[in-house]
Amino acid sequence: AYELPTRNFDLVNAAGARIPLGLKSKSLRVLVTGGSGFVGSHLVDRLMARGDNVIVLDNFFTGRKDNVLHHLRNPRFELIRHDVVEPILLEVDQIYHLACPASPVHYKYNPVKTIISFITLFSSRLRYHKTNVVGTLNMLGLAKRINARFLLTSTSEVYGDPLEHPQVETYWGNVNPIGVRSCYDEGKRVAETLTMDYHRGLNTEVRIARIFNTYGPRMCLDDGRVVSNFVAQALRKQPLTVYGDGMQTRSFQYVSDLVDGLMRLMEGEHVGPFNLGNPGEFTMLELAKVVQDTIDPNAKIEFRPNTEDDPHKRKPDISRAKELLGWQPSVTLREGLPLMVSDFRQRIFGDLKEGGS
Ligand code: NAD
Ligand code: UDP
Ligand code: UDP
Repeated sequence: AYELPTRNFDLVNAAGARIPLGLKSKSLRVLVTGGSGFVGSHLVDRLMARGDNVIVLDNFFTGRKDNVLHHLRNPRFELIRHDVVEPILLEVDQIYHLACPASPVHYKYNPVKTIISFITLFSSRLRYHKTNVVGTLNMLGLAKRINARFLLTSTSEVYGDPLEHPQVETYWGNVNPIGVRSCYDEGKRVAETLTMDYHRGLNTEVRIARIFNTYGPRMCLDDGRVVSNFVAQALRKQPLTVYGDGMQTRSFQYVSDLVDGLMRLMEGEHVGPFNLGNPGEFTMLELAKVVQDTIDPNAKIEFRPNTEDDPHKRKPDISRAKELLGWQPSVTLREGLPLMVSDFRQRIFGDLKEGGS
């Protein structure tokens, strides 16, 4: 049988810090699809610090090489430019499947940003379908062949415009199957279905996380998400664009809390699905106020028309994750927001390039 290398061989991480030994006796081989994206790169940092051997598969559609640049010289790290829509042969113990073009401007038709043509919009939407369906199928096929544990990063969007509040995992959701958001939310619903079918039918070990809105350093700039928009706008001295009346709510989770939850889920014994999110609920106007307090009290607010099918409210019930994973978020919005500001400031005003590869 293939003998895994012990973790004793590597005492120093990429940042030069000593890694404490004894957290576990063997280092794992871990595949992270979408590992050069926002969440993926933070997960990779944690896995590398733990002493694992990490392979990242990414097509750099919304991710950036910059996010994992600090690991490139580490022999335990491998970055492969690959589209998960194509099959691949690898040998690993765990697969974190994050690959998905997760930025809303890529799938939403926003009446304000008329610059996005319908043709571009269609090809972006097609990419969602292929990645969520074919990409997830390929990664499940891979997990099955090599007996790896597979973790799907699903989304709170599977609850659609929810009729139950807060959302519990047993709620089936309220999704418009032909709406503008459907390539994302229905895509993730199919991905969950595929995952459960491989689990029930083929005994593949799986885990499902339903992630609620997450923010932090390395978030895509200008991808249209509300936290990155407001922070970038406040730093650029532009008005904060509030869509609709600003009374819709979201729950914002700091990225380190999410990564902690994903790792606990992978290491634990429960399939899920598990809501991973911060139950603190904010209207978009309240979020704008936190951004004003954090960055610029004089930042103006400008109201814009909202996008179609926008969920009115969203807040996770995290009782299941608390009970079965011993997990709950620890960073509040007022604590977490300042932690992303210096990263955004540097990327907006510094000479670091943004976008593409
Ligand atoms: P992201 O866009 O920063 O990361 C996604 C990564 O996947 C990018 O690096 C992208 O280049 C890569 N990718 C996309 N399509 C690919 C393909 N076909 N083949 C290979 N790589 C591909 O987004 P994120 O916020 O880090 O999201 C990570 C995961 O978490 C996604 O699956 C997303 O749906 C899920 N999620 C995120 C949030 C959030 O608030 N950030 C909320 C719910 C769910
Ligand atoms: N697959 C892959 N790598 C592997 C094993 C499978 O990319 O190591 C892909 C494979 O090409 C197929 C998908 O995963 O498209 C599903 O594979 P599975 O074996 O479950 O189904 P089948 O190939 O029998 O249809
Ligand atoms: N939103 C906003 N201003 C922006 C971008 C988004 O008011 O500049 C609103 C958007 O209409 C939605 C909420 O913020 O109600 C969250 O949007 P985001 O795209 O960040 O996340 P999702 O809708 O996927 O939860």
